[in-house]
Amino acid sequence: MTATHVPGLPVIEDGHLISTNPATGEEAGRVPVADEKAVIAAVERAHQAAVWWRGLGFDGRKKRLLTWRSLIVQRIEELAELTHLESGKPVTDGLIEATAAVEHLDWAAHNAKRVLGPRRVRTRILVAEHSGHLEYQPYGVVGVIGPWNYPIVTPIGPISGALAAGNTVILKPSEYTPVVGQWLADTFAEVVPEFPVLQTVHGLGDVGGALCRAGIDKVAFTGSTATAKKVMAACAENLVPVVLEAGGKDALIVDADADVNLAAEAAVWGSMTNAGQTCIGIERVYAVEPVYDRFVAAVVEKAGKLRTGEEIGPITMPKQLDIIRDHIEDALAKGGRAVLGGAGAVQAPYVSPTVLVDVPEDSSEMREETFGPTLTITKVRDADEAVAKANDSPYGLGGSVFGKKNAIRIARRLRSGMVAVNGTLTFVGMGNLPFGGVGESGFGRIHGEDGLREFARAKAITVRRGPSLLPAMTFERTP
Ligand code: NAD
Repeated sequence: MTATHVPGLPVIEDGHLISTNPATGEEAGRVPVADEKAVIAAVERAHQAAVWWRGLGFDGRKKRLLTWRSLIVQRIEELAELTHLESGKPVTDGLIEATAAVEHLDWAAHNAKRVLGPRRVRTRILVAEHSGHLEYQPYGVVGVIGPWNYPIVTPIGPISGALAAGNTVILKPSEYTPVVGQWLADTFAEVVPEFPVLQTVHGLGDVGGALCRAGIDKVAFTGSTATAKKVMAACAENLVPVVLEAGGKDALIVDADADVNLAAEAAVWGSMTNAGQTCIGIERVYAVEPVYDRFVAAVVEKAGKLRTGEEIGPITMPKQLDIIRDHIEDALAKGGRAVLGGAGAVQAPYVSPTVLVDVPEDSSEMREETFGPTLTITKVRDADEAVAKANDSPYGLGGSVFGKKNAIRIARRLRSGMVAVNGTLTFVGMGNLPFGGVGESGFGRIHGEDGLREFARAKAITVRRGPSLLPAMTFERTP
């Protein structure tokens, strides 16, 4: 069906959110919008379902999560195609994203019992007559609020951790990609039809706000820093704990002994994949003087081959086009030079690859999240200057370092939650590593052992050994 809506803009009609393809304006699907009453009702259902889901124990949940994983794998092409229709990203990018999501689901399902299972802890001299026990108990109902740029993997990360730990989940997908969010919940309901263990509530930001206040036990938010602050404020009213995965302005450092060609390839991939709409996308490069010219030439050569409308898909959210245009114009007005693209690169809904040099550190292109296929490259004296400049940002999500002798030392000095050495964006594909940032990029972790613990409360129990007034206490292995 062809709609007359503005490409990419979510429209609410007859109580439904209509999702449109950002490239064509065609309708990608529609979902019912939830009002506050519907959100509260969903939360009540989720609390009831939580008793059953928790009671399944780690093994019962693992079985069901792995069946869901198999179903997603079976239908992965359908999911990638849907993501393409709704967000505009190339189908191959949708496939990569779905594959990463499957990895996180798989890892959480297989490892929850090992990481969160009950255990005995040695007691020390002060309470020597007692034994110590540690249990990780699920919170109850977790609200997952997601963005549009990676509508499969960003919700599946926290959903996997939360479900594996024994919580039920209510997903509020982005209003720009609700259909993909609904697909996730529908396929889950196919494998777990008994209770509403994974539900969705749809709508604009107010629905996310209502979810934070509706009696849930934890919120895992992924989105912009500005919204993260609103989510935290809403959650503060009832002391609901939060994990915040917010924006970024990641830097890539090229040291003197780097493989320049490899670094250029990574910089182009890191900055241009998903048309630059990636929280851990590379937005700034600091290259040391001896390799700078070679590096810039290699980046221009590689990025120049990317075809706008093919490898570079449309910008999903129309208002982002203005931000990208403003950043490029500000950089050029302040003395920056475009060595690829630049003025005129923004032709809605596309932005052609843009590489800028000599951009002053105080320009918006260097300070704020651009979220488009643009990259700045700055010449620095040495790795110390590169680290100082990379760290001079309110954000601290990911980053990359290219080099040999000092690369790992440099990686440790970056003020960020994740760093790839001689690679880029790699950490998102590893189910066993934590994902998250520092500063304005948020706090808390999803994925890996830390990500699982994020969705369970540690509970300490001590039991007197030997003669006791209490009946002997037994500790089940599950749930
Ligand atoms: P956004 O902040 O506009 O929206 C994110 C979600 O929050 C949406 O579902 C939205 O409806 C909801 N929301 C809006 N206002 C709300 C409120 N007051 N209360 C509760 N929920 C509310 O972000 P976006 O434009 O969808 O996504 C892009 C941003 O997400 C970028 O900044 C990007 O860096 C960030 N991001 C971060 C990560 C990460 O892991 N750190 C991953 C992907 C995207």
